[in-house]
Amino acid sequence: MTEKFNFDLTSTDGMARTGVIHTPKGDIRTPAFMPVGTAATVKAMMPESVAATGADILLGNTYHLMLRPTAERIDRLGGLHKFMNWSKPILTDSGGFQVMSLAGLRKLTEKGVTFKSHIDGSRHELTPERSMEIQKLLGSDIVMCFDECPALPADRDRIAKSMRLSMRWAQRSKDAFGDRPGYALFGIQQGGLEQDFRQESAEALREIGFDGYAIGGLAVGEGQEAMFNTLDFATDMLPTDKPRYLMGVGKPDDIVGAVARGVDMMDCVLPSRSGRTGQVFTRNGVVNIKNARHQDDPRPLDENCSCPACQNYSRAYLHHVFRSNEMISGMLLTWHNLQYYQDLMQGMRDAIAAGQFKAFEADFHAKRAQGDIEPL
Ligand SMILES: [Zn+2]
Repeated sequence: MTEKFNFDLTSTDGMARTGVIHTPKGDIRTPAFMPVGTAATVKAMMPESVAATGADILLGNTYHLMLRPTAERIDRLGGLHKFMNWSKPILTDSGGFQVMSLAGLRKLTEKGVTFKSHIDGSRHELTPERSMEIQKLLGSDIVMCFDECPALPADRDRIAKSMRLSMRWAQRSKDAFGDRPGYALFGIQQGGLEQDFRQESAEALREIGFDGYAIGGLAVGEGQEAMFNTLDFATDMLPTDKPRYLMGVGKPDDIVGAVARGVDMMDCVLPSRSGRTGQVFTRNGVVNIKNARHQDDPRPLDENCSCPACQNYSRAYLHHVFRSNEMISGMLLTWHNLQYYQDLMQGMRDAIAAGQFKAFEADFHAKRAQGDIEPL
């Protein structure tokens, strides 16, 4: 255990990297996948179950928590870790992205964003300073700069204006964050799919200086090929000795491709959200548990998976509880999906450390191409 926040890069294989982020609340093994605990819970999961899958860190959403139950209330109750019973590290987003995607009636100025809550229509303001204050009240270990991110496609002029505003906000975020030993502030690179803007943004962030660097503004509808093409140049513009975090990614093949391009951290609601809709991730691709082919199938979802859904239940049972809208369906399928994601990360960490990442990638794609086991 350390009192400081720092990153040890232990091995590289091509562009892929593995290492450990040390924090006072525990180590984060990278590449790391962060389950999303939007409203102070990873839906359908007990926090100890999330930890049992191998997750070292969770993501919390500033936008949701500031509206309900409010950051001030969480602070009075001892902070987000105590409130939700999760003692390991927590990263919070800045609220900026979700204001843009969820809130009603927004007004964007140099100062920040005013908006109406999607819950009760009440008026709120988020600025870089207020976002830093909220994330501090929550007790977040990794704090994200407040930024603005245009939906793609957008024209170059819009992307440049937005990126430069985000860089001014990054400086204000850094000033407001101040000096907080043991806590980290990450800058967020913007610039859409444009190489020159990504470069300008990376230089502005390096000038300010952060504990880690996120790649923002991707996974917003541009498609995997455009995202990978952008990562091919964007990742390399960021410092090699600091963690790199690709925000909001993604599907398993997005994650493997991002790690191949030098990304250390990712988050996505996909494994937990899909667990509630009957979509299951396995080594052999996606399985839809509501499909009638499973109703008499006594076999586990994935015989190589250590999660309770695979160890203790048949496909037939999982199909039945899903079709019956039983709560245990979302619980078991979410656990399995999070276990699959964490196993994928562990596999990549081991492969990078062994200098076998190319072989890992080939095997990953070959198993998915095989598809699910044959129906009985
Ligand atoms: Zn499983």
